[in-house]
Amino acid sequence: MRIILLGAPGVGKGTQAKLISEHYKIPHISTGDILRGNINKRTSLGLKAKSYIEKGELVPDDLVVSIVKDRLEKEDCKAGFVLDGFPRNLYQAKTLSEILKENKCMIDKVILIDVNKAEILERISGRRFCRNCGANYHIKFNPSKLNDRCEKCGEQLLQREDDSKDVVLERLSVYSRTINPLANYYSAHGLLTKIQGNEGIENTFNRICSTLQSVYSLLV
Ligand code: AMP
Repeated sequence: MRIILLGAPGVGKGTQAKLISEHYKIPHISTGDILRGNINKRTSLGLKAKSYIEKGELVPDDLVVSIVKDRLEKEDCKAGFVLDGFPRNLYQAKTLSEILKENKCMIDKVILIDVNKAEILERISGRRFCRNCGANYHIKFNPSKLNDRCEKCGEQLLQREDDSKDVVLERLSVYSRTINPLANYYSAHGLLTKIQGNEGIENTFNRICSTLQSVYSLLV
């Protein structure tokens, strides 16, 4: 099953993508995670992407498209994948369709998670992560039992640099400029389902699963 998750920063795409990945046994591909990994390892891709991410702007399409193309060619993507953070604009969406067409496959479902702006800001301001093992927390909704340390490895928890207020506002503004053409594109292909994401992780996941179940039963 080939799935795309759309939604503003902070709606919980990463959390839901991880749950979908475990449930349907398909890889979770997050362009944001791949870019941050490259920044941490100081690769040339990371160096090119860093300044855009710090400002909350989109990284140039050619860089992101080539990351996704390489990743989709890997063996574990043959049975499907869940894309989180890609595509971010119409050009990326059309390029993705072409890449999949070359491999004689296509997207099965696009889910747009919708959460209101006040809640997004509350969610993002409380997000914390562990640089050592990648675990994610939220100071209110999913706090670590060790306060500001990671439950899994004991490392100090950090806030993503691009989760600071000014950068978040820029990321939300980029999102509101780009989401409509993207949603219209997938809607015109009969692939888009919008899901309310403001009732907790489990409820949102259940809604996503009921949408995906009908697609899944057609594929197996
Ligand atoms: P995310 O973790 O998905 O919120 O992405 C964090 C940042 O990575 C974004 O604000 C962008 O700067 C960059 N980024 C991630 N995915 C893309 C993409 N598909 N196109 C352009 N930039 C991206």
